[in-house]
Amino acid sequence: MTTIAFIGLGNMGNPMAANLVKAGHQVQGFDLVPENLRIAGENGVTVMANAAAAVREADVIITMLPAGKHVLAVYNDIVAAADRAALFIDSSTIDVDSARKAHAIADAAGMQSLDAPVSGGVGGAEAGTLTFMCGGSAEAFKRAEAYLSVMGKKVVHCGDAGNGQAAKICNNMILGISMIGVGEAFALAEKLGLSHQALFDVASTSSGQCWSLTTYCPVPGPVPSSPANNGYKPGFAAALMLKDLRLAQEAAQGAGASTPLGAEAAQLYSLFNAQGNGDTDFSGIINFLRGREG
Ligand code: NAD
Repeated sequence: MTTIAFIGLGNMGNPMAANLVKAGHQVQGFDLVPENLRIAGENGVTVMANAAAAVREADVIITMLPAGKHVLAVYNDIVAAADRAALFIDSSTIDVDSARKAHAIADAAGMQSLDAPVSGGVGGAEAGTLTFMCGGSAEAFKRAEAYLSVMGKKVVHCGDAGNGQAAKICNNMILGISMIGVGEAFALAEKLGLSHQALFDVASTSSGQCWSLTTYCPVPGPVPSSPANNGYKPGFAAALMLKDLRLAQEAAQGAGASTPLGAEAAQLYSLFNAQGNGDTDFSGIINFLRGREG
C-alpha cells in the first residue's frame, strides 16, 4: 500500500482516485469544491482540509487540475510540505511551458516529477482504461508506472519533461482536424445524394479511413456506439477539444512550427463553441459545418 495525495477531484480526478483506492492504496484527497470532496469521501478517499495537508507523508502526489496556472499554483503551495522522496505526477492537460515549469519546481526541491496527461475521457477514468502520455526521466517513469497502470491500460514514456503534454496536444490536433475532414465529407456526400452508409463502407476500407470515421463516425448509423447516435452527448466535449487545439496553437507559435490546419480547426471549434455547443460532443461539429454551407 502506498500513500497517494490526489489534488483536483473533478470529473476525471474523482474516478481516477477511486481506482487507486480500489487497488488498495491510501488516497488523501483535496479539491476546492465541497461536493467533489463528498463524492471522494464516498469512494474511500480520505478528505483533507487543504492541498498541503493532503501531500504530507504522501509517497506519490497526483494533480488533475484545469490548466497550467492551477498546476503551478498548487505545486508552489505544496512543495514545501511534501516529503523529499515524493514523486510528483501531473495528469492535467496543460501547456508545455507550464508543464516544464512544474517539473522545475519539483526539481529545485530535489524531487522527481512526471507530466502524464491522459486520453480516454471520463468513461476511461471510470473504467481504468486511460492512456497516459508521460514526460520526465526514465527513473520517474519507472516509479510512476505501477500507479498509472491502475488508472489506465496504456502508459507510454514520450521522453523528457513536457513531452507527455507535447504528445497529447499533437494527437488531439490530428483528431480535431480529422473530425472536421470527416464531417465535411459526410456533408458533401449528403448534397451529392450519396448515403452515409455507402460513404462509410467505401472510406472505412479505403485511403480516407481514420479513427474519426471508423470508431467515432459523426453521423448516426454506421458506428452504433458513436455519440452521433446519442444526440451528440459527450464523449469528448467540444469545449475540451477547443482547449487542446488552443494549447497546440500556443505551442506551435512558441516553437515556430507551421500548423495551418491546426489553426483553422481551432478557429472552427471556437465558432462552434461560441454558438453554445461547448457541452456537445466534438463530433457534433458536423452540424455546424452543414450550417455553413450554401
Ligand atoms: P474538472 O473541472 O471537472 O476538475 C478539475 C478540478 O480541479 C475541479 O474539481 C476544481 O475544483 C479543482 N481545482 C481547481 N483548482 C484547485 C486547487 N487550487 N486545489 C484543488 N483543486 C482545485 O475537470 P476534468 O474534466 O476533471 O479535467 C481535469 C483535467 O483533465 C483538465 O486539464 C482536462 O483538460 C483534462 N482532461 C479531461 C478530459 C475529460 O473528458 N473531462 C479528458 C482528458 C483530459
